[in-house]
Amino acid sequence: MPAAGEARDPGAKPFGMQIQTITGCNAHCVMCPAGRDDYLPAECRPISGGVGDSAKTRGKTWRMSEALFARIVDDLAGIEGAALHLFNEPLLDPHLERRVARIRARWPSMLQVISSNGALLTPTRARALFAAGVTILTFGLYTSDPDRYRRFTGLDPATAWRNLDATIRAAAEYGAEVRVKVLDGLLVPGEEDRLRERFEGRYGIALHIGMLHDRAGNVRLEEPGAEPCSEFGPGGGGRAIGCLDRDRPWRVMHVLADGRVVLCCNDWDAMHVLGDLRRQSIAEVWRGAPYQGLRRALGTSRGPRPALLCDRCKAAARCKHQ
Ligand code: SF4
Repeated sequence: MPAAGEARDPGAKPFGMQIQTITGCNAHCVMCPAGRDDYLPAECRPISGGVGDSAKTRGKTWRMSEALFARIVDDLAGIEGAALHLFNEPLLDPHLERRVARIRARWPSMLQVISSNGALLTPTRARALFAAGVTILTFGLYTSDPDRYRRFTGLDPATAWRNLDATIRAAAEYGAEVRVKVLDGLLVPGEEDRLRERFEGRYGIALHIGMLHDRAGNVRLEEPGAEPCSEFGPGGGGRAIGCLDRDRPWRVMHVLADGRVVLCCNDWDAMHVLGDLRRQSIAEVWRGAPYQGLRRALGTSRGPRPALLCDRCKAAARCKHQ
């Protein structure tokens, strides 16, 4: 976590990349702007080359071009991990397995992570993804209560459980790791213990308790009984001076399907566009003036600075003295 006012070196390149190969989602989870009825992009238009323009294109799907994807993959030297998901359900991309395989062929030891809601994770696709080179697959179960799951995601709980079982079997076959993600704000008393017993006790699979939050003000949490996470504080009452969620501005680069680099997985409106991988290398963007300026602003605890998305984000580290 960055300390207030401290100049920190982000290194020559990020530790990890989150890459959106396709926009859109098949669910409408309450904590995700992809399901918002008023989810409309600031700009909603195809751009030259037919590549997607915005993550906020509900009902419209844009896929990253093969040329841009290949360019990014070739530039991944020195990066530890790649995650082919951002503001989306990655399995909507019919070429996802091929893209994973391209990374695996080019960078054999790279960590590859996919986070999915699992609805499209049939036994065939689960096996294909692990065979292609996925190292860790995070399966979004969110809650084990069928009614709550259906209300929360709009998806079928029976399909989720069926696919989860198949995914666990496929991962064991390929020596990959599955993480089951639930959300703290959706769990009822005793549910966490039961899930830990089921997954950690029986299968040795990590249960990941995610936080339910409003994505830096991008959604209103209206699920009855859902409690927003308090782990990271109230999200206000102090200036943001760092990121408690993976230290993202210093560690992780986030790339939209059109090649633009945005701040993080909460930057749905592309409030902070920090570069463009259609024209720049990863290193140029990472060390470029927009990124460095943002880091400087975020690390500055006093004095005027431009508005930052982090100021309204619950995952921000905050300065109480200003
Ligand atoms: S908006 Fe939130 S998650 Fe994104 S970099 Fe800022 S503090 Fe981190």
